Amino acid sequence: MSISVENISKLYGEQKALNNISFKVNKPEIVGFLGPNGAGKSTMMKILTTYIEPSEGQAKVNDFDIAVQKQQVQQSVGYLPEHNPLYLEQYVREYLAFNAQVYSVKKTRIDEVIALTGLTPESHKKIGQLSKGYRQRVGLANALLHNPDVLILDEPTTGLDPNQLVDIRNLIKSIGKEKTVFLSTHIMQEVEAMCDRVIIINKGEIVANKTLKELRDDKEQVVVVEFDYRVEDAFLLKLPKVKQVENTHDFVYEITFSTTDDMRSYVFDFAHDNQLKILQLNQKNASLESLFRELTAN
Ligand code: ADP
Ligand code: MG
Repeated sequence: MSISVENISKLYGEQKALNNISFKVNKPEIVGFLGPNGAGKSTMMKILTTYIEPSEGQAKVNDFDIAVQKQQVQQSVGYLPEHNPLYLEQYVREYLAFNAQVYSVKKTRIDEVIALTGLTPESHKKIGQLSKGYRQRVGLANALLHNPDVLILDEPTTGLDPNQLVDIRNLIKSIGKEKTVFLSTHIMQEVEAMCDRVIIINKGEIVANKTLKELRDDKEQVVVVEFDYRVEDAFLLKLPKVKQVENTHDFVYEITFSTTDDMRSYVFDFAHDNQLKILQLNQKNASLESLFRELTAN
């Protein structure tokens, strides 16, 4: 098991940033840690990288205990912090060489991580001269220096422009083929683009832990339809895969289907067969994004 978290809580003074959190991450796997700002993502990541200690609970990284085997945990983990402090006056290679020395990493590894993160054409430049996307690559190269089994990336794609976003996503996906990647984001699209599984956190508590496939399969679909006349609920309940019908007002009905397939054509045919006119026909909750918003609404 690459990451195993059991009943972790973290208090900052009176405030509970994490409330009794448990989850596991396998190897190799790319898991998204998704939640709105302030949910507790960075706090969890700092605990897993031994930067801070939990108030309660246990966690293991690469089977090493974060409380009593800190050094082994640090050797197992590559960490890209949320606001990665880079020295803008330093050259890319100089920065990596300095950290390689600190961590007693062989010099040949510097060229390896530069190549791996696509930094070769920029490696002679000062960090301050690089775009945000390339600075993130420097952060990733640094996290990969000691060839850790587990990568913990705190909002690696935040603040990147669309092209940089695609490049960094691809880079993370390729790293994730061999290593365990645990990355945080507040954007569901990032999870959809990169991750096998998502752990959703809200206000310090886990509200979902599912593969993307499970998340999509579980999803219901709500179709909102307005007819020109009243329809008996029982009538609408004969539609395929229908779960629930609610007459919200006038001749407007919210029909819940237990499928993610677009059911609007069935509703349309139903209206046609029953000589009803449709005044409006819309899908609600069409995306995983809306599911995320529902799960983190409170
Ligand atoms: P996220 O990364 O999901 O945005 P954080 O883990 O940074 O969330 O923060 C979780 C909560 O803990 C927030 O309410 C934040 O204000 C609070 N918090 C984080 N770090 C500290 C700290 N060092 N001292 C006090 N409160 C903190
Ligand atoms: Mg954060």
